[in-house]
Amino acid sequence: MIIVLKPKATTRQIDHIIEKVKKLGLKPMVSRGVERTIIGVIGEEEILRVQPLEAYPGVEKVMPILKPYKLVSREFKKEGSIINVGNKVKIGGKRVAVAAGPCSVEDKKLLLNIAKEVKSMGAVMLRGGAFKPRTSPYSFQGLGEEGLKYLSEAKRLTGMPIVTELMDSRDMPLLEKYADIIQIGARNMQNFTLLKVVGQSKKPVLLKRGISSTIKEFLMSAEYILSEGNFNVVLCERGIRTFEDYTRFTLDVSAVPVIKKLSHLPVIVDPSHATGKWGLVKPCAKAAIAAGADGLIVEVHTNPEEALSDGTQSLLPEKFGELMEEVKKVAKACGRVI
Ligand code: PEP
Ligand code: MN
Repeated sequence: MIIVLKPKATTRQIDHIIEKVKKLGLKPMVSRGVERTIIGVIGEEEILRVQPLEAYPGVEKVMPILKPYKLVSREFKKEGSIINVGNKVKIGGKRVAVAAGPCSVEDKKLLLNIAKEVKSMGAVMLRGGAFKPRTSPYSFQGLGEEGLKYLSEAKRLTGMPIVTELMDSRDMPLLEKYADIIQIGARNMQNFTLLKVVGQSKKPVLLKRGISSTIKEFLMSAEYILSEGNFNVVLCERGIRTFEDYTRFTLDVSAVPVIKKLSHLPVIVDPSHATGKWGLVKPCAKAAIAAGADGLIVEVHTNPEEALSDGTQSLLPEKFGELMEEVKKVAKACGRVI
């Protein structure tokens, strides 16, 4: 249930409604917008349905929610959310934000090099996994805290905030310490325990779409995070599994405008994992921006042949530079800036 208040509703009227909602055993989530305040109510909708809420002073209308997600919905918040990452970067709004870096953090010198290169080409955040979700238990699993320390060093050198993945809730204190935005990978999109853990943090979360998830399921996962109190969520379309096997996954470009319509959360695109082939990363990045994405996350490596993970989809820095130049033109044509 969403309670839309009148533009001139007083604090007293708002508090009275919040009190009533709590008394009924429901949870009010208040969003104070520029024009008006909206209260999203979590819990059994039936309990509120029988209450004459529209008779309360200050209430303009009461909207039952048919969709299973509430807090992530456009009905809950009309204007697009802008997520602040490390007090440096904003995701959402007019500016398109690009994160780039290696798939995994492998070695300090290599990471620092890649970080400097991508920064000089316009990336504003550095990506790199220290905990890696690998299909095979025999593949490189990441450097753990050592990798996080290298990321920290790269941040100190370049000023770029860090995007890095959390796979196990026991590592959350480390991520709180080193990450500026915590990535929840595709394989953990429906790890509800993990979603609740990041939901209880104040750190921004980059939630990647599960490889076989519908948009509704994706938004329900984001709802888990918001329902715990963390509204700093960025969604990431990274390709889904289809019958097509030429590419690693199939980039669902239409998910971008669909999610923009259904939700106020910013959406970025990962053309690297979506395609699995470095030669397809640039065209898909351009398509993503043209479709309205608020940013990109791109894998870049100075020596893809020797990369410990995802070398086939990693761009050499100069190729990343070319991507940035072309994506800038697309962004400009769409009224955005990079
Ligand atoms: C990654 O970004 O390194 C990654 C493993 O992504 P995904 O979870 O989308 O596969
Ligand atoms: Mn990867």
